[in-house]
Amino acid sequence: MAIPFVDLKAQYQAIKADIDAAVSEVIESLQFIGGSSNRFVTEFEANFADYIGVAHCVGCANGTDALEMSLEAAGIAAGDEVIVPSMTWISTGEAVTRLGATPVIVDIDPASRTIDPARIELAITERTKAIIPVHLYGHCADMPAITRIARRHGLFVLEDAAQAHGASYDGKNAGTFGDAAIFSFYPGKNLGAYGDAGAVVTNDASIAAIVREISNHGQSKKHHHERMGRNSRLDGIQAAVLNAKLPYLPKWTRERRRVADSYASGLAGVPCVLPQEMQDARHVWHLYVIQLANRDEVMDLLRQSGVSTALHYPRALSELSVLSSRVVSDEHGRRLAREGLSLPIFPELSDEDVAGVCHLVREVAQASAR
Ligand SMILES: *Cc1c(COP(=O)(O)O)cnc(C)c1O
Repeated sequence: MAIPFVDLKAQYQAIKADIDAAVSEVIESLQFIGGSSNRFVTEFEANFADYIGVAHCVGCANGTDALEMSLEAAGIAAGDEVIVPSMTWISTGEAVTRLGATPVIVDIDPASRTIDPARIELAITERTKAIIPVHLYGHCADMPAITRIARRHGLFVLEDAAQAHGASYDGKNAGTFGDAAIFSFYPGKNLGAYGDAGAVVTNDASIAAIVREISNHGQSKKHHHERMGRNSRLDGIQAAVLNAKLPYLPKWTRERRRVADSYASGLAGVPCVLPQEMQDARHVWHLYVIQLANRDEVMDLLRQSGVSTALHYPRALSELSVLSSRVVSDEHGRRLAREGLSLPIFPELSDEDVAGVCHLVREVAQASAR
């Protein structure tokens, strides 16, 4: 058996004609650099805003910049505190730290693996300015509860939807609950470019305008530098690739859900914790993360049998000392870091291959549990 963790080649082969045409159109038209005059970027921004159901989408260079620029647009600065979950990719905390603010770590709920609303208020001080719920692994955080708390305390809510394109809660899309939300189009994400790319989405015209200015050297128009900016534009080729892929996303999400269902039945009764889809949530299964006490051993045995797995992530945010965070609670995050194992999941993965992986996990989990 040889099963990759993701198979971007299979996806490319299925839509090669669309991608090749889109990329060569950019090259023929020389519309390489992003900004409001790039028709590929403008078109993608309109299509993605429409897909998510928000008024504004601002493309940018990657999801990490999208986080940092959104926080900057919200006025987050040195001395402020921003609440983040105990388990996420480093970007969520990195963006806060780069602005001189302090990430305040609040534990995840062990079932949804997203920030636990019941623990948020314990972390709020007079310095708290914002909350960044992360829709980890493609599962939307409990946004109704989080936005209620944020409203009560006057906090800015920035959704980190980097792993959650098309996920929803109560039938409402991830990315439409907060004051703003960010997406990453890193190649392996559910909607991936062929390089780095990201976006900020919001219904707030002023946040959108500020992020757009920051991302383009602080310019409101050419040579009018209104604020200290930077270069973090979405480029034409990435926008064209994303435009070509966006129509396929609903189908890819259905296929990911099929794979997840297949894992759930294939792993029933195996001594490990399976990921859950909470009531009211629609999971888009960016990752399928099981938990086992003997994770490293199982990972090794799977590798020897040709099955690639990965860790998301081997350290909780509170265990990354570069962030100099304030830790309020992190027990479940640290446990997920020790026990989590991401199994292969991608739209093209067949039920037969999933059954093969499940068979192996069952064997090695049982053998090493003895
Ligand atoms: C991928 C990711 C990001 C950052 O996106 P990049 O485009 O890689 O900068 C941020 N947050 C989470 C949760 C992610 O998974």
